[in-house]
Amino acid sequence: MKALVYHGPGKKSWEEKPKPELKESTDAVVKILKTTICGTDLHIMKGDVPTVTDGRIIGHEGVGIIEEVGAAVTNFKKGDHVLISCITSCGKCEYCKKQMFSHCEKGGWILGNLIDGTQAEYVRIPYADNSLYPIPAGADEEALVMLSDILPTGYECGVLSGQVKPGDTIAIVGAGPIGLAALLTSQFYSPAVIIVIDQDDNRLNIAKTFGATHIINSENENAVEKVMSLTNNKGVDVAIEAVGIPPTFELCEAIIGAGGHLANIGVHGKSVTLHMESLWSRNVVITTRLVDTVSTPMLFKTVKSGKLDPKKLITHRFKLDQIAEAYDTFENAAKEKALKIILTNE
Ligand SMILES: [Zn+2]
Ligand SMILES: [Zn+2]
Repeated sequence: MKALVYHGPGKKSWEEKPKPELKESTDAVVKILKTTICGTDLHIMKGDVPTVTDGRIIGHEGVGIIEEVGAAVTNFKKGDHVLISCITSCGKCEYCKKQMFSHCEKGGWILGNLIDGTQAEYVRIPYADNSLYPIPAGADEEALVMLSDILPTGYECGVLSGQVKPGDTIAIVGAGPIGLAALLTSQFYSPAVIIVIDQDDNRLNIAKTFGATHIINSENENAVEKVMSLTNNKGVDVAIEAVGIPPTFELCEAIIGAGGHLANIGVHGKSVTLHMESLWSRNVVITTRLVDTVSTPMLFKTVKSGKLDPKKLITHRFKLDQIAEAYDTFENAAKEKALKIILTNE
């Protein structure tokens, strides 16, 4: 089969690899129908994720058809259409029992990281019963690719951890796919004011069409002053950090109001300054979280009912064997006006 293989920082190739086989009785082999590229994959390509080694097939999102299941898999059979979760989980360990699948002792985020991933014609999924979700006939599979990672991530790490409530004033810092996923899912709870902050006017304008009540380009404007003037100097109830660099985290610290929640989603590679001199007395909660994908079944229902339309996040489509071109487009997201790219295996 063909797959996208990482060969060290800056080096990748679309090449021939052996078709995956069942290794454990709890595995499934899935033929990929649709997959996508994540911001995390770009970090991997830069060499920022040292657990990914030379020869690894990357990718951790997608939908597919079950090709083969191990003897212990009871929820799925050959021919079933499935959503692949970015998080693999055994369902049995101490963390899984607490629904903290991201920290599963035998899984977690291993797909396209510690084991071969989904940017390939086939993928082996361990603990298939717990790591795959059935796709009902007639569902829009393109839209469901957004449920592998970005929607549960935006929702669980941003909206749930931030405890968004009706009438809240919230700020989302970063209008990439994850920030926009938080924007879409925050509206389950009817916040009154949703401020989205980014440096890309195209993404800010998309945020506006997705329900942002105010947009701020932090390159042209002083974002802290603007948020304070919008909130009568009170700051926001919830600040969601969806970038992962020190300036954006510190921006969240500066705009969080008394009693507020600062929910970090961003993947940080550098330490940030914790401004205790201003935060110590403000009854603020700061949360960090890896996505557990426990909300995936609920998100499925909201997509099915039309309450949530994740297809809005898809801007580009390629065939799977055009993946090099797709990476070029995604790497130049601002210029190409790219959010999520669908790659179809035909
Ligand atoms: Zn991802
Ligand atoms: Zn587990």
